[in-house]
Amino acid sequence: MSASGADSTRFAALVRSAKSVAVGAHVDPDGDAVGSTLGLVLALRSIGLNAVPVLASGDSVPETYAFLPGSGLYRAAIDTDVPDVFIALDTPTFARLGDAESLARSADDLIVIDHHPDNARFGTLSIVDPAASSVGGILWELLFEMDIDPDVDVATCLYTALVTDSGRFSYSNTTSRTFRIAAEMLEHGVDVQRVFTEVYESRSVGALALIGRTLERVTCVDGDSIAYSWVEDDDFTQTGALKAESENLIDEVRALRGARIVFLMKRSPGLVHVSLRAKGSADVGSVARAFGGGGHAAAAGFTFEGEIPDLLTVLLPALREAHG
Ligand code: 5GP
Ligand code: MN
Repeated sequence: MSASGADSTRFAALVRSAKSVAVGAHVDPDGDAVGSTLGLVLALRSIGLNAVPVLASGDSVPETYAFLPGSGLYRAAIDTDVPDVFIALDTPTFARLGDAESLARSADDLIVIDHHPDNARFGTLSIVDPAASSVGGILWELLFEMDIDPDVDVATCLYTALVTDSGRFSYSNTTSRTFRIAAEMLEHGVDVQRVFTEVYESRSVGALALIGRTLERVTCVDGDSIAYSWVEDDDFTQTGALKAESENLIDEVRALRGARIVFLMKRSPGLVHVSLRAKGSADVGSVARAFGGGGHAAAAGFTFEGEIPDLLTVLLPALREAHG
């Protein structure tokens, strides 16, 4: 189901009457966060609106997505004036907006567009479609409902959102709708191979070494039905891999045959960020929520205060219960 006609009419009315629009997404942005933000900003600019993309964390766009059209427009949220309208993409709560939270709270209107099932619908207008594989796909449909014909730059950004969040059209969120939208994007000129090369085949040698460490540490429990690995701050300094290059590391772990739930821990002193993935029908989103995080049934995350052994003591029983 796409955004209802009433939602798209309200969306159009709010943005068309705004003198300034800022668009942001969740902290530690992934392909959907960056691709959907830039795609929407470029589309709004193409109809003469004053729209800027803002970073919820960090001061530059992740290197992997710097090739996207419009990436040079990004500015830090803290350097951005309060806009008439703030649009929060791919973000389920105010807190996940990081540095951009105060812009979102202070804007005259806040529009939320998301596909997280646990979205708090915290906008003046909230368009939430958990059946959508990416926010990029929701925006693609929304633009047509607003009679905006996307150019190749908009299509490239939104395609990048679609291809990354669907796991290259392979995760359980991939549907015929995902492929249909992708086909339309290709008809608008997207260079599929270029996006693939930029996103998946532009790793530094350090990032490959980090994959090596991750694979060496894969640990299986319950006869392989749960598998995990981890990386630490030192791994980044020793290999030279960038933090942003660890976005898809979890995919290396999920390759294991028979694994139903996999997770990757990223450890800093006293803090562990956990990425959880379910390959079958288990709901790792509810496990993440129980640990103060969130996400989708098949892909979720949270941050744990403590060290890895303490975390495993509480997380493994919770995951066993989740996969039944
Ligand atoms: P990833 O594992 O790639 O960081 O994130 C997977 C999914 O879980 C994404 O939808 C992301 O927004 C969500 N997620 C990851 N970490 C957190 C977190 O700390 N809090 C919340 N609420 N969601 C998270
Ligand atoms: Mn997403």
